[in-house]
This record gives sequence, structure tokens and C-alpha cells, in this order.
Amino acid sequence: NAQFALKRAKTSGRVEVHHSGEAACARYKLDLETELRRAIDQGDLRLAFQPIMDLGANRVAGFEALARWTHPVRGVIDPGEFIPVAEEAGLIVPLGRWAVDTALATLARWDAAAGRPIPISMSVNVSAIQLARDDVPGVIAAALATHGIDGGRLTVELTESAIVQDPERTTRALQALKSLNVRVAMDDFGTGYSSLSYLRKLPIDNLKIDRSFVSGMLADRDKVAIVRAVLSLADALGKTTTAEGVESIELSQTLAALGCSHGQGYFYGMPLTPEAAHEFWQTRIG
Ligand code: C2E
Ligand code: MG
Ligand code: MG
Ligand code: MG
Repeated sequence: NAQFALKRAKTSGRVEVHHSGEAACARYKLDLETELRRAIDQGDLRLAFQPIMDLGANRVAGFEALARWTHPVRGVIDPGEFIPVAEEAGLIVPLGRWAVDTALATLARWDAAAGRPIPISMSVNVSAIQLARDDVPGVIAAALATHGIDGGRLTVELTESAIVQDPERTTRALQALKSLNVRVAMDDFGTGYSSLSYLRKLPIDNLKIDRSFVSGMLADRDKVAIVRAVLSLADALGKTTTAEGVESIELSQTLAALGCSHGQGYFYGMPLTPEAAHEFWQTRIG
């Protein structure tokens, strides 16, 4: 398999030399698509788990499951690169199903090790395209049942593009998730193109303030103003908030003082293997 992939990589290298940039790019995407399809089939994808901290209680509230693909030849490929490929090729449906199932299986393993359900939640990213093409609430209900996890311990992270693409379908899906007691977070909040009125109409529990507003915030009054406004909006609407991209203690303290309820970022912890994430949680109890 590695040999085959190597041959393909060499071929695409030759294509890049002889054809226009556009053709090489199309060829690269096709290669990536074929190889991603194989990686999903063969179980070559992994999930990394990044801690999400409760800033008030100073404890681990849960983990966000982030997909990782180590290509046999190209090495680690970022989700920022392969998720769009998966979306275009329709592979986001099997990938998304795999992510939900694997994340909940991991949480169930941690529960089993403790001999009881441990008090942490799991966050999973669901793409707008996946929501449009698959029965996401049905898939989630089945995975919760399979792994014996209470819906209240799962958070689905959704970007604003899901609302823009198909507001009615998204509304129905979110209502179905609510009936499973699953929490919904608006990911990368503030970067999308949807209107604010959905915050009133849709059952959204948490706003994840995009990293672009958080990082560099201490040296930028405009960013502080935006973060303050989002926190105040969330508070008024009864939603919790998670700051993304917290990379320093100063940022963490400032966000806590401003009333942000949760934080995520390299300052607290990197995305970790399941074993390291479990250990991270264990060493921070009590
Ligand atoms: P996201 O959901 O907004 O995830 C947060 C991203 O920020 C992650 O990148 C994480 O590694 C990174 N990050 C966390 N803390 C920091 C920090 O302090 N500084 C900096 N510079 N970065 C930080 P990652 O893992 O590369 O994922 C990128 C995006 O890919 C995710 O953004 C999410 O939209 C998407 N993604 C990842 N896994 C999945 C998946 O299973 N399904 C779907 N549909 N999308 C996924
Ligand atoms: Mg996310
Ligand atoms: Mg995010
Ligand atoms: Mg983001």
C-alpha cells in the first residue's frame, strides 16, 4: 500500500512538471480523494482530543475530537486540507459517521476504566455538507445507544454555513438533537455569513468564539470589543461561551475576568492521543 502510494506521489510530481498548475492541482486533489477514501476504508484516520476547560471551576469540562490523517508518503495532512476534499467527494458522510462513533467509543472506554460515567463531555465537529446529506440525528442516536452514553455528554459543533445552506433542514436536525439532550455549539462564531436572528430561533447552547478574535486580543482593542460583545450577547441569551486559541495565561485570565465560561487552546493543552487525553484528565481531577 505504501509502495503504491509512493508510485502515485511520483506520478503526480511528474504531472506537476509537464502540465499547467491547474491540472496538477486537480490531479493532486483526485489523488488525495482516492487515498482518503482508502484511509477511511482501512481505518487509517485517528482522532486527537483537545481539552476544553471550565474557566470558573478550573477543571477539564471535556474534549474536542479532531480528525488526523497521517499519509504514508505525504506525512500528516491537516484537516483544513482533507475535510474540504472529503466534503467535495461525498466522503464527509462516512468520515463524519466514523468520527461520532470513534469519539463516543473513546468516552465509553474511559468510563469503563473508571467503572462509572466520568464527568466530562465530548465535542464532535459536524460539517454543513454532512448535515445536508446524512441523517445526523439518527446516526448520533444510534452511536449513543451503542456506546451507552447519555446524550447530555455530547456536544455537536456546527459552523454558521450549515444555517446559511439549508436553514429549515438545520432547524429540524437541531431540534432532533435537542430531543436526544445533545448540546449544540456554534463553531468559529463571528466568521460566518448568517444573520444573528438564528441565535434566537435555533436551540444553540454554546458559542465558540473564533480564534481570530481571541489570539492577539490583548494588544488589540477592537478584538477585545468584539469578544466583550459576544460574551454579553451570549449571557443575555443564556448561552455558554468557549474561547478558541487561548495560548497564554494572560489571555486565559483576561477571558475568565470578562466572564467567558470555557477556554480551549495550546495554553491548556494540545490535541492529544486518546491515552494522553485520558491521562490529562486523570492528573487534573480534584
Ligand atoms: P475547529 O473545530 O475550529 O477546531 C479548532 C482548531 O484549532 C483545531 O485545528 C485545533 O488544533 C486548533 N487549535 C486549538 N487550539 C489552538 C491554539 O491555541 N492555537 C492555534 N493556532 N490553533 C489551535 P485542526 O485540528 O487542524 O482542525 C481544523 C478544523 O478542521 C477544525 O476547526 C474543524 O473545523 C475541522 N475538523 C477537524 N476534525 C473534524 C471532523 O472530524 N469533522 C469535521 N466535519 N471537521 C473537522
Ligand atoms: Mg470545532
Ligand atoms: Mg472552532
Ligand atoms: Mg476554528
